[in-house]
Amino acid sequence: MKKITLTFDNGPTPGVTEAILALLAERGIKTTFFVLGNRISDPVGAALLDKIVAHGHWVGNHSFTHSVAFGDSTEPGYAIREICDTQALIAERGISGRLFRPFGNFGLLGPHLLSEEALAYLMEHRFTCVAWNSVPHDWDDPARWVERCLADVVKQDWTVVVLHDIENAVLTRLPELLDALEKHDIEIVQSFPEEVVLIRDGEPTSLKPSHVAGRS
Ligand SMILES: [Zn+2]
Repeated sequence: MKKITLTFDNGPTPGVTEAILALLAERGIKTTFFVLGNRISDPVGAALLDKIVAHGHWVGNHSFTHSVAFGDSTEPGYAIREICDTQALIAERGISGRLFRPFGNFGLLGPHLLSEEALAYLMEHRFTCVAWNSVPHDWDDPARWVERCLADVVKQDWTVVVLHDIENAVLTRLPELLDALEKHDIEIVQSFPEEVVLIRDGEPTSLKPSHVAGRS
């Protein structure tokens, strides 16, 4: 039986995240939300974070501003600040897990994902760092991302898909994806396959030189 792990990045977004949570709850599906620090720093965002947790989803850190990819930045301290400030807000809500997802340029994996500084910080603070193996482009092609996602599901044993709880992205066609997964007997799981876990509890696992700026 093929598997899929659903992940929702770049939120939470008022009016979008609640609707996604309701759709997932109806079907008993658990996922992970990789949140941005600048979206959970106000009371509305913090309340959405609480709601995500109350629904049984996992929460990960996805940077504070999602601006310059860590491996592309030359500013000392930038990556650490982005991780640290976001993690402080997550911890404030009583979440002790340290899950992190770097961001790629348009979903691509490559040396822009991590800098040596970011990597050292994530390892020292025993983060688990999760990548992906499917980016169906819900954010810039909301009309056709479901077909791309299903094509990835067919060709892989365990797909980890990056979706976005932001405006004009995943929400409209999410029920269609969930229907199709059910119809094709794809098991929806919350955990991550080893191949997308770059670091587990601070120890490098599937991390490659090609994920770190200047290593390859
Ligand atoms: Zn992102």
